Amino acid sequence: MQQLYCESCQRFLADRFVVGSCPVEGCGNDTARGDQCDRCGRLLNSTELIDPRCKVCEGIPIVRDTDHLFLELPLLKEQLEKYIDEASATGSWSQNAVRITDAWLKEGLRPRCITRDLKWGVPVPHEKYKDKVFYVWFDAPIGYISITACYTPEWEKWWKNPENVELYQFMGKDNVPFHTVMFPSALLGTGENWTLMKNISVTEYLNYESGKFSKTKGIGVFGNDAKATNIPADVWRYYLLSNRPEVRFRLN
Ligand SMILES: [Zn+2]
Ligand SMILES: [Zn+2]
Repeated sequence: MQQLYCESCQRFLADRFVVGSCPVEGCGNDTARGDQCDRCGRLLNSTELIDPRCKVCEGIPIVRDTDHLFLELPLLKEQLEKYIDEASATGSWSQNAVRITDAWLKEGLRPRCITRDLKWGVPVPHEKYKDKVFYVWFDAPIGYISITACYTPEWEKWWKNPENVELYQFMGKDNVPFHTVMFPSALLGTGENWTLMKNISVTEYLNYESGKFSKTKGIGVFGNDAKATNIPADVWRYYLLSNRPEVRFRLN
């Protein structure tokens, strides 16, 4: 496949190492990342970015060939759609989870690259790909299962028991496609009897007054600010939980 490569940094620019304009018509975000546009939520391959720039040196990358492993989502289409239809009808899915997943299916399933030319990460256990690591959103959800296996040898009672276990997950809206499309596909593709997510509760972004929280720009209320008010921690917890934005919301 083709990937962006920065000649001055001498490395391939995966995911967060490259920014550029989002290719989705009408989106207009000029700081979309190599794997996802934060504004419209579309998952991207880095070569789709318009006017890409290296995040490290601001240089203009070139396109180079490299070998990678892919998750063949088109082959899993039928199974995946059946899972989504059933889980979203019988389980509890927040509206934004349904909307984001539908938009993803409507766009058409494409093979997704699951390896990266990076030094940091989980190495790929295959001779030909031993210098590569897995894409973080391929290996991170496997962690839900492997951390249970670290805790108990009886992990299969939870993760391979869909008849008796109902799985709930909570997340921000930018993580939806990884949990409703990518990870279920990876599990379905094994042909084994995994416990798939049945209920998903998704929050919108929490805004501060009329803008985004930004640690770098100092916009928002952070742990040290909250502490300095001397308002007890339980009051903060209650306020945030009761205002947890399942619809668009501002902190005033
Ligand atoms: Zn976009
Ligand atoms: Zn660079």
